[in-house]
Amino acid sequence: MTVKMVDLYKQYQTISNDIDKAIADVIADSAFVRGRAITDLENDISNFLGTKHCISCGSGTDAITLALMAIGLSKGDEVILPAFTFAAAAEAVALLGGTPVFADVDKTTFNIDTDSVERLISKQTKAIIPVHLFGQPCDNMNRLMDIATDRNIFVIEDNAQAFGAECHLHNGTTAYAGTIGHIGCTSFFPTKVLGCFGDGGALFTNNDILAEKIRSLANHGQTARYQYRYIGLNSRLDTIQAAVLKVKLPHLKKWIDARRKAAHYYSEALKNIPFIKVPHESAKGSHVYHQYTIKVTPQYRDRLRSALDTAGIPSMIYYPVPLYMQPAYSDICIYDRQSDNSLALSECVLSLPIHSELTHSQQDLVIDTIKSFFEKTKSDNHCYD
Ligand SMILES: *Cc1c(COP(=O)(O)O)cnc(C)c1O
Repeated sequence: MTVKMVDLYKQYQTISNDIDKAIADVIADSAFVRGRAITDLENDISNFLGTKHCISCGSGTDAITLALMAIGLSKGDEVILPAFTFAAAAEAVALLGGTPVFADVDKTTFNIDTDSVERLISKQTKAIIPVHLFGQPCDNMNRLMDIATDRNIFVIEDNAQAFGAECHLHNGTTAYAGTIGHIGCTSFFPTKVLGCFGDGGALFTNNDILAEKIRSLANHGQTARYQYRYIGLNSRLDTIQAAVLKVKLPHLKKWIDARRKAAHYYSEALKNIPFIKVPHESAKGSHVYHQYTIKVTPQYRDRLRSALDTAGIPSMIYYPVPLYMQPAYSDICIYDRQSDNSLALSECVLSLPIHSELTHSQQDLVIDTIKSFFEKTKSDNHCYD
């Protein structure tokens, strides 16, 4: 039996007829860039999320870059984002001449910490980028929006890992992650919860002016053919990728459900192991488990990972180093020196295989390997908190 972190081929097999036909249709039409499937997909996503506008683009990183360009980020502007996440948002900020300002994260949810954000706000703060990490929607979106609105700061959500996750809001309603800030960004990288067969991304907004600007920026800053209003990018989703996503979108809720069931199966089995903390769920049914990330007592984390590896089970450390410590950013960033959950998390997190096709017997292999590792390692009895 083999266990993979993600099994893209197995998922493809469940919908191969529809995918093959959709791709063949694009080839028959041969409008490979800006073809019909693009508008269809953008409409389907707007309807699904309940946002006024969806603009597709070349990748999730491009989506964040385009969002920052659309709000007019310029040299010297500061953007607050979490220290514990994938580098894309920091990269986009720095490439545009902005300063990445790294806030700490909550050690339970792994998401950006409101108090840390408040400590870092300055006159130069142009935007806050909360990241819905591992598929867990931020539970502080209301507070972040309040903080930002009071000071004319933009909120750009990095929703690359949580497409389809729902945030529970203060007024008792729910809204999809990525639809609460001024702009939401997502990635359709193949391994994401909604992934295509290459690179892809999209932005969401309810703001007509921002939407028009983003659409133009993603197409060389053109307002009409060969009319350049802005300095833009060439960042468009391929028509074939849009066709793939259009087939996959109606299956998304079922796939998210399968991920949740797999996550709960792991958590039931692992929750009583003293050296492990299973993932927290901020609100029931909101986490979409892009990753299933446990916390392991640091002294055992790497040894557990080797034991899994020996049993043929892959695992990953997302993320091994906080961004403010990375050579590319350490000299140009600002970070919160009062709180350091990001560093502590980088020393204890471990992501286990999770995807919509994972079977109980595959999970049992992972669980049994973890349990027997800790039975063999009965040294001391420190519980990890
Ligand atoms: C994947 C990812 C991105 C970037 O997406 P790409 O499509 O790979 O450019 C950005 N932010 C987060 C949190 C991600 O996980």
